[in-house]
Amino acid sequence: MSDLYARHKAVLPDWLALYYKDPLEITHGEGRHVWGADGKKYLDFFGGILTTMTAHALPEVTKAVTEQAGRILHSSTLYLNRPMVDLAERIAQLSGIPDARVFFTTSGTEANDTALLLATTYRRSNQILAMRNSYHGRSFSAVGITGNRGWSPTSLSPLQTLYVHGGVRTRGPFARLSDTDFIAACVEDLKDLLGHTRPPAALIAEPIQGVGGFTSPPDGLYAAFREILDEHGILWIADEVQTGWGRTGDHFWGWQAHGRSGPPDILTFAKGIGNGMSIGGVVARADIMNCLDANSISTFGGTQITMAAGLANLSYLLEHDLQGNARRVGGMLIERLRAVAAQLPVVREVRGRGLMIGVELVRPGTDEADPDTASAVLEAARAGGLLIGKGGGHNTSVLRIAPPLTLTVAEAEEGAAILEHALGSVH
Ligand code: PLP
Repeated sequence: MSDLYARHKAVLPDWLALYYKDPLEITHGEGRHVWGADGKKYLDFFGGILTTMTAHALPEVTKAVTEQAGRILHSSTLYLNRPMVDLAERIAQLSGIPDARVFFTTSGTEANDTALLLATTYRRSNQILAMRNSYHGRSFSAVGITGNRGWSPTSLSPLQTLYVHGGVRTRGPFARLSDTDFIAACVEDLKDLLGHTRPPAALIAEPIQGVGGFTSPPDGLYAAFREILDEHGILWIADEVQTGWGRTGDHFWGWQAHGRSGPPDILTFAKGIGNGMSIGGVVARADIMNCLDANSISTFGGTQITMAAGLANLSYLLEHDLQGNARRVGGMLIERLRAVAAQLPVVREVRGRGLMIGVELVRPGTDEADPDTASAVLEAARAGGLLIGKGGGHNTSVLRIAPPLTLTVAEAEEGAAILEHALGSVH
């Protein structure tokens, strides 16, 4: 055990996730690569944890942060803050939400907490609809609504949650249905649920489930849900913490895959926008955002240093069409991994969109999830110089690939070859 790992174990909680039997200390990064304290260079196929959206040590972001640090780090939201207004304007416009207001937080959890607070206050109901297998963060209210039993710690949540079918399509009673029949079955399930309860405040959903193993419903599910929600006056919260900013290639936001649903009433974001700086936030129509009476601030939300990073990062993303890159390179990577998977019975499915790719592993010849093999693949990939992620809760048999959106074709091929070797070496 390394000295740092021993010190880590002595002072940090046991439940803090660590990958690898011999956990890795990362010392620095550049582009799509990071370097370990072991002196080794790794191709980063998880982008931190979907946080390094453009690239490690992107000069444009470094420059913006350094210049801002020389002026002021933080002055609080009690005063006007130019970088915060600049970034809010851009995000409001990109969100597609009419008359949008943006509230900055410091994490995805805090963004979802705020969204739940807004929805329950606006609709005067403490009931929430959430998707089965969902994950929305680790605060009391966010874990209280998660549809992933690994994180559901208590029945004392301040919110009452009802769980809806549709987020996961790979298993469960509707798994073998066609897209149209799957949507129809989920809609019936939702209608049935609503027939048995007073109207919930909102449905919160990740357009593609992240921690849940990069599973997505057929396009159009949320448009079909939207009609029912609108009939009952239920708000729709899209949790875009993992799916936002063009990662899915075809769309800038995950909700856009659902076409005629139109924008959500509330959208939450975090992870990639700060390229590693802690930025989260909520976008909502003005009447929803302004339903809170009391002054409410997030002390560090919107602080100048993080906003400077967000602005430089977002500008780079848009100017270099990284959404287009995610579509092209991600599409190629998915095809390549599917070809590999066809030869390997340990792979049940390669799925995803753009640079958000899941590889689900099973015990060969069965349909049984295989977390042990997933851990072994992670170790073997690391040995080959590749870092990848895996799902959480009861989805640890799914490998997750979500590199920075500047990934090149050559890097995608290099990573796929290492992964192919790792997959082949475990069975
Ligand atoms: N929502 C989704 C979809 C997430 O994947 C996560 C984190 O993984 C969160 C919310 C919570 O974000 P944070 O860890 O920044 O609090």
